Amino acid sequence: MQKNIFLHFSRELVDQPIMSTLIRKYDVEVNILQATITPNEEGTMFVQLRGNEEKLEHALGYLVANGVDVMVKPRRIHFHEDLCTSCGACVAHCLPGALYVEEDTRKVLYDEDLCIACELCIPACPFRAVEMAKTSVGGEV
Ligand code: SF4
Ligand code: SF4
Repeated sequence: MQKNIFLHFSRELVDQPIMSTLIRKYDVEVNILQATITPNEEGTMFVQLRGNEEKLEHALGYLVANGVDVMVKPRRIHFHEDLCTSCGACVAHCLPGALYVEEDTRKVLYDEDLCIACELCIPACPFRAVEMAKTSVGGEV
């Protein structure tokens, strides 16, 4: 099972070994896709957590109990299939593989379930085929 989550660390938490504890004690696989953390300042991370459902639940509980703001897929993008030329320029920027080349057709497709809304594909697309959605999934911001 996999969860794509957005984490926000307060200034007090930035220097804490929270991610290493998550891996060691909660036995989940952590893939950090994007991080902006400066010592003594706030930090944000887009991460993929992998493990069975129980382990993921415990891991998320640990984060919340330690004061980390956890948002599961806080935003999403719009993929405009009609504007996409399948040029592939975005694919290498999409670390979770939400934008990918379909083997048979060589068309670029979008899998919303994998998208963590990191926005890296937006400047990469010369045809404006991807943009941030105006509303978010489940009403979250
Ligand atoms: S925002 Fe774009 S680059 Fe980021 S995960 Fe979603 S599709 Fe991939
Ligand atoms: S960069 Fe834009 S046009 Fe090219 S494949 Fe990606 S979404 Fe489609």
